Amino acid sequence: MNLDKHTRALVDYLSAAADLDSAASVLHWDQQTYMPPGGVAARAEALATLSRLSHGIAASEETARLLDAGDPEPGSDAAAVVRVARREHERATKLPSRLVAETSRATTLAEPAWRRARADRDFGSLVPHLQKILDLQRASAEHLGYEDHPYDALLDRYEPGATKSRLELMFDELKRGTADMVRAVSAAADDRTAPLRGAFDEVRQETFGKSIASAFGYDWGRGRQDRAPHPFCINFGGPGDVRITTRFDPDRLSPALFATLHEAGHALYEQGVDPAYNRTPLAGGVSLGIHESQSRLWENVVGRSRPFWAHFYPRLQDAFPDAFGGTSAEDFYRAINAASPSEIRVEADELTYNLHVVVRFELEVALVEGSLAVPDLSDAWNAKMEEHLGISPRDDARGVLQDDHWAIGFFGYFPTYTLGNVLSVQLFEAALKGNPEIPADMERGEFGALLAWLRESVHRHGKKHDPEALIENATGRPPDTAPYLRYLEDKFSELYDL
Ligand code: ZN
Repeated sequence: MNLDKHTRALVDYLSAAADLDSAASVLHWDQQTYMPPGGVAARAEALATLSRLSHGIAASEETARLLDAGDPEPGSDAAAVVRVARREHERATKLPSRLVAETSRATTLAEPAWRRARADRDFGSLVPHLQKILDLQRASAEHLGYEDHPYDALLDRYEPGATKSRLELMFDELKRGTADMVRAVSAAADDRTAPLRGAFDEVRQETFGKSIASAFGYDWGRGRQDRAPHPFCINFGGPGDVRITTRFDPDRLSPALFATLHEAGHALYEQGVDPAYNRTPLAGGVSLGIHESQSRLWENVVGRSRPFWAHFYPRLQDAFPDAFGGTSAEDFYRAINAASPSEIRVEADELTYNLHVVVRFELEVALVEGSLAVPDLSDAWNAKMEEHLGISPRDDARGVLQDDHWAIGFFGYFPTYTLGNVLSVQLFEAALKGNPEIPADMERGEFGALLAWLRESVHRHGKKHDPEALIENATGRPPDTAPYLRYLEDKFSELYDL
């Protein structure tokens, strides 16, 4: 990176915070994968210390002095460094370090409590943890400040520029645009998913999933896959170590397979960021919405398409001859795209997925503004599921306890999943326009042109451009629900004869 001496000094100073954050990421990864339960108390203290130290650097007077010292040329990498670092500095100075450390400690303790509560189907046992975390989140929102709604302050750390009121517009467009289709598939009530149930050897599942991640372009020399209760992607200090996790269900193929495609999509993004941005404020994906656009593009737009399975289905049949020997490629395609309202977000089809996000968005807005109390959350969840999806979960494990986000303090995170869905199709359309050979490539199991377009248009930029500017540069338009709604309409009207 070509930096003037003031910005170079800023980057050098902040690199210590980047190192502390990577160290914290390693501890988080370990906590989710290998750490024995007895490690949790010490881990909570270690993570709280790291986050306090990193926060101290970002909030320091030295950072303020270095930010004010330079005058970088507009549009340069240096200007982007200063813009991103200033935003983080302002955030950090608004949050007292005691609040940051307390949040880190409370969420580290709540995560295992969430696991226990989910295993025991006992929402009540999580209530004190959630109450503590919500109080800390609300305090954070007040310290950070906001114009219209405290939720905006929480949202901003995941999606710079997004607001509650703009998200409401997006969700309204999506609800309106899909309501008829959702009604029709709910009424169809035919179960097409039988081919996906059976006995699926875990090692074979793992090998098959990894072969797809490799074909996508995931570099195993800079990554690895482990098992975790909640699949995720994490990187340590840049594109040189980008790891994914998954979980296997011996009776069902889809959860691990599509989780692997999804996390590989996140990982391709992180592996594709310009290495010159390592240990600088521009390292890593720019926002969770853009991140999710990458994971959902590979998971759904590619991984649930006919061209993709034209290549991979014969290979899947070879890997699981008992399960798929007698199933046609078309029946398999219809199985992996079967749509109907269901309980679990991460296993939801593309058509109803965003309704799961609407449920969470409306509930967390209510929690943050104080119109919903934590002890009432389980009942409110079931009522929202009934309102938006027409079903009620059979227990809290398949209801309010299914996601760990709130227990780990991620209020304002869920809407980025829907933003990602919307943007995945907008980006894919733009890639196709420049590279009409992409579907034919997919039929041969080749993804080089698609990955190259994403690398050039999205990945390599890291945090250099804010999300909306990145999308406009890549697609020629601001974020827009129209391509996504067209995609759903085309796909599901064909699948369901609508
Ligand atoms: Zn994701």
